[in-house]
Amino acid sequence: MPNKRKITVAHGNGIGPEIMGATLHILQEAKVPLEIEEVEIGEDVYKAGVPTGIEGKTWESLYRTKVFLKAPITTPQGGGYRSLNVTIRKTLGLYANVRPCLSYHPYIETKHPKMNLVIVRENEEDLYSGIEYRQTQEMFQSLKLLSRKGSSKIIRYAFEYARQNNRKKVTCFTKDNIMKVADGMFHNIFEEIAKEYSDIENEHWIVDIGMAKVADSPEQFDVIVLPNLYGDILSDIAAQITGSVGLAGSANIGGEYAMFEAIHGSAPRRAGQNLANPSGLLLAAVQMLVHLNFDEEATKIQNAWLRTLEDGIHTYDIYKEGVSHKKVGTKEFGEAIVERFGQSPKKLEPVSYKKTQSASLKIKEPSKEKKELVGIDVYIDEVTDSVESLVQKLKKVEIKKLKLNSLSSRGLNFWPGEEPLADKSDHWRCRFFSESKKTAKQDVIDLMLRLLKEDMDVIKTENLYDFNGKPGYSKASSN
Ligand code: NAD
Repeated sequence: MPNKRKITVAHGNGIGPEIMGATLHILQEAKVPLEIEEVEIGEDVYKAGVPTGIEGKTWESLYRTKVFLKAPITTPQGGGYRSLNVTIRKTLGLYANVRPCLSYHPYIETKHPKMNLVIVRENEEDLYSGIEYRQTQEMFQSLKLLSRKGSSKIIRYAFEYARQNNRKKVTCFTKDNIMKVADGMFHNIFEEIAKEYSDIENEHWIVDIGMAKVADSPEQFDVIVLPNLYGDILSDIAAQITGSVGLAGSANIGGEYAMFEAIHGSAPRRAGQNLANPSGLLLAAVQMLVHLNFDEEATKIQNAWLRTLEDGIHTYDIYKEGVSHKKVGTKEFGEAIVERFGQSPKKLEPVSYKKTQSASLKIKEPSKEKKELVGIDVYIDEVTDSVESLVQKLKKVEIKKLKLNSLSSRGLNFWPGEEPLADKSDHWRCRFFSESKKTAKQDVIDLMLRLLKEDMDVIKTENLYDFNGKPGYSKASSN
C-alpha cells in the first residue's frame, strides 16, 4: 500500500455535509489512498467572532497538506463578514480558477447539447482587491488592479492547460476598447504568449459580445481565459446553461497550493433532506485526483458517474419525467456510482486521464521599462456648472513646469473644447503636463501647495508616467 496522501477537508454548511459525505464515500470505495484532515470553516466560525470564517488551526492544516477539498459554506446575514473564498485564494496564491462546463445531452436537458468548454479565470487581481473610496458627495470609486505578472501567469496557464488536455483553441475576453491601459495590457500579453503556442488556435473577443456568443453558441468555444470579474460572471452563465449549477466543479490552482469545490453555494433550503446533487463536489474531487496524479481512480470515478447519469439515476434537480429512470437522494446517487465502478458510459464520451508531467509554469520576469514622470492628474471636489470659471481658477495655480492640459469629468473632456456640461459635476480631473516632458517630484509638490493655497479640495492625485516613451495613462476622454 503506497503512503497515503494527506488532504484537508471541510464539510461546510447547508447541503455541504451531505454532498461531502457522498463524495468521500465514493473516494473511499474507489480505494484512493487519501488521509483526511478535517477542519471547520464558515458559518459557526464567523459567528464565533472570526471575521474571515477560517481559524489559525485550519491554516496550519492547509500549509501542511497543500490540498483543500471544500464543501460550500453559508455566509451569515449582516455586515462585517469577509469573503472566505477571496481570503483563501489570496493567502494561498491560488491564481487560476479552472471550471470545465459541459453538457450531458440527452440525459440532462440543455439548449446546448454540444457544449464542452473550460473557463480559466484569473483569481487574485482585478476589482477583487476591494479597494474602494467615496470621494465627493456624488462619486464612489473602486480600483481595478491588473499586473503584468498576474496576467502572464494566468494566460500561460490557459495555454499549458489547453496543450495538456488536448484542447484546440484558447479565447481571451477583455474590454480593451474602453480600458485600453489595463485590459489592453492583458490583451497584449495574450497576443505575445499565443505566439509561443503555434499548435493552439487563439482569438480575442470584447467581453460583452464574447459572453453573448457563449450564451448563444457555446460549442464554438474551447478554453476561455479572462480577468477575474468577467470570469466570475461568465463561469456562472456557462455552468447554468449546461443544465444545472449542481453539476459543475472547479479547481483553484496556485504554485504550491490548490483548492477544489463545487461552484454552487450551500442551498440552505435543501439541507438535511438527502436531496442535493453531489455531482459538482464530486467532479471537483475528480479534478483534485488528477492534480494529485491519481489518474486511474479519477477515470474510474468519472466514468461511473457518467454511466449513472446515462442510466437515468438522477437527483431532483436533474430529474425529468420521460428522460430519467429513477429519482434518488444524495446517498443513493453516491451508491449508484459505486455500483458502476469499472463501467463506462455508452453514449456520452468516456474520460481517460493519463499521467501527465504537470508542466511547471515558466514565468519570465517582465523586462524593466524606462519610467519617466511627465505630469500629474489632480482630482478635485468642486461643484460648478461653469467650465470656464474652473479653468480660470486652475490656470492661476499652474506653474512653469506643470501647465493645465485638460479638464474632464467622468472621462468626458470639457476643456479644451466646447463640450456642453449637461449637469453640475463635483468630480473633476485636472491634467497638468510638463511641456518639456520632464517633471520632478518637487514640481508636483509645488503645484499641490498652490492648489492648497487657493483652497481647492484635492481628493486624489495620480502621477502620469511614460514607459519606454509610451504613455502609461489613458487619454483625456474615452467613449
Ligand atoms: P446556492 O447555489 O446555494 O443555491 C441556489 C439554488 O440552486 C438552490 O436553492 C437550489 O435550488 C439549487 N442548488 C444549488 N446547489 C444544488 C445542488 N447541489 N443540488 C441541487 N440543487 C442545488 O446559492 P444561494 O442560495 O445564493 O446561496 C446560499 C448560501 O451559499 C449563501 O450563504 C451564500 O453566501 C453561499 N455560497 C457559498 C459558496 C461557496 O462556499 N463557495 C458559493 C456561493 C454561495
